[in-house]
Amino acid sequence: MNLSLPTLALIATLLAAPRLLAQSLKEDGPTEVPFQSLSSTTLGAFGRTALALNPDSFKHAESANFIYHYFDPITAKQVATEAEFFFRTIAKDFGRENEAVEQKAHIFMLPDKEWEEFKRGASLDPWTGGMHTGNELFITRDGERPQGPTLGHEVGHLVVQRFFGDNIPLWLNEGYAEYISGVLYASYYRARKYAAKPHFAGMTLEDYIPLEKLTTLTTYPAQEREVAAFYIESRKLVSFLQQRGKELFRAFFADLAKGTSFDSAVQSVYGVSRR
Ligand SMILES: [Zn+2]
Repeated sequence: MNLSLPTLALIATLLAAPRLLAQSLKEDGPTEVPFQSLSSTTLGAFGRTALALNPDSFKHAESANFIYHYFDPITAKQVATEAEFFFRTIAKDFGRENEAVEQKAHIFMLPDKEWEEFKRGASLDPWTGGMHTGNELFITRDGERPQGPTLGHEVGHLVVQRFFGDNIPLWLNEGYAEYISGVLYASYYRARKYAAKPHFAGMTLEDYIPLEKLTTLTTYPAQEREVAAFYIESRKLVSFLQQRGKELFRAFFADLAKGTSFDSAVQSVYGVSRR
């Protein structure tokens, strides 16, 4: 994979991030506190549903940008380290790292049994098996073994919604989450001396979704194969646009989130029209 200058700049940032992170999290992870002592105890409908699945087993803690609800402290420590790292890096990707966070987001870590129960009542992101809604993220994770880029993907959704609101086109929302989670995971492991580079699935020409269709979809495609193509193509389009420069991409993202059509935003930001 060829790395563009913006990507290299992002990676340099990522490599510096763990040091900053180490200053904000204690060695043994976030400290458990009673639910009522959390800085925010207001939950959405899904958050209340999750806690009600097994109220006596949930522990609670918080760090700079997140509040955690978990069973296993080792899992919570791992998730807290990754979530803070991802949050700051994504904010920086949009040049918004110095903005104060008004409200911490809640992350629910559900063991397999509770996750299965929770899934039945929730509309899950079909690709990652995690879920983001409003100010809450839901993931399943047991033990200290990281399970792939789900958390980075969902934190990606959370951060862009915070900056750009609820009207981000589906392809851009998923494409950005896929793009940034791939970059984040590779960088997270490189920063910890593991050999890693972004690994992205490929797709064949026959799966290609025409741009007009891709950029106007408001619901996920019905077929599993189409869903995979939708995520891959959306991510490739975001990568392509990111390589044209960070400032342009940020302006383009803001335009689309305000309701500007894909064609108009491409023309006004990148100065080209499709035909
Ligand atoms: Zn998603």
